[in-house]
Amino acid sequence: MPHKTLNKQKIFAEDALYSSYDLSELNDDEITSFFTSGSIDAYCTKCKKRSVFRLNDDTFSYNKEKSQVTKFGLITVKAKCTRENHNELLNRLGNCDNIFYAIFKRYSNDLLKIGQYPSKGDMDFGELDDSYKELPDYLRTELGTSIGLYAHGVGIGAFVYLRRIFEILLEEAHQIAKKEEKWEEDKYIKSRVTERIQLLSKFLPTRLVQSANLYGVLSKGLHELSEEECKSHYTLVRQAIQLILKQKHEDKEYDKVVNKINNIN
Ligand SMILES: [Zn+2]
Repeated sequence: MPHKTLNKQKIFAEDALYSSYDLSELNDDEITSFFTSGSIDAYCTKCKKRSVFRLNDDTFSYNKEKSQVTKFGLITVKAKCTRENHNELLNRLGNCDNIFYAIFKRYSNDLLKIGQYPSKGDMDFGELDDSYKELPDYLRTELGTSIGLYAHGVGIGAFVYLRRIFEILLEEAHQIAKKEEKWEEDKYIKSRVTERIQLLSKFLPTRLVQSANLYGVLSKGLHELSEEECKSHYTLVRQAIQLILKQKHEDKEYDKVVNKINNIN
């Protein structure tokens, strides 16, 4: 649905892909300045914080005759993170310069948002809670995708990515367990998931072991629940997964502290 007023922050950083806009109330200069100047607030995946991103005009698709954005074609909005960081290599202060992109297709007064990087899911996830910033990238991507799908109204798909996280945690524990002398791989392979969780209990976050039936709920989401049912249970199930991830991180931190204490004498 076309929007009457154009809000840079909303259109570039917050609106979902395939949102459409009407440019008819702006003149050419206003349209060009809209895409090439000013700044937006967005989560920076490099600083792992919300930052100010300043728009710059060096990558816009110009009309050949005038220095204005194209009337028919693609418009790329490029904005750089302005946070000042210490650069280890050069040993001096410099801007983060991480780039935010938004891509639009323009056909005269019709504007369609067709791309954004980092994805809205990555940004939403990044802003959720500072304590997840230590999460490895591969888990961050799975959780970010799940959150992004849910944010775009997809329930079952959002469940699939939560289940993948559960399976990744199980497999990581399995790889560690396999190195144990007494480990019975055959028994593990033949076991159902709830039994596998028991076999791996020593190597899993206790919260995951306690909520072994969570896997059942996630699988049910895939095979039996409707889109609407998945959406209504999503927040609760995601909370469980996030608390498990948090515990995994805290367990690791705790091990480091215990090691240091053991080294005191
Ligand atoms: Zn940054």
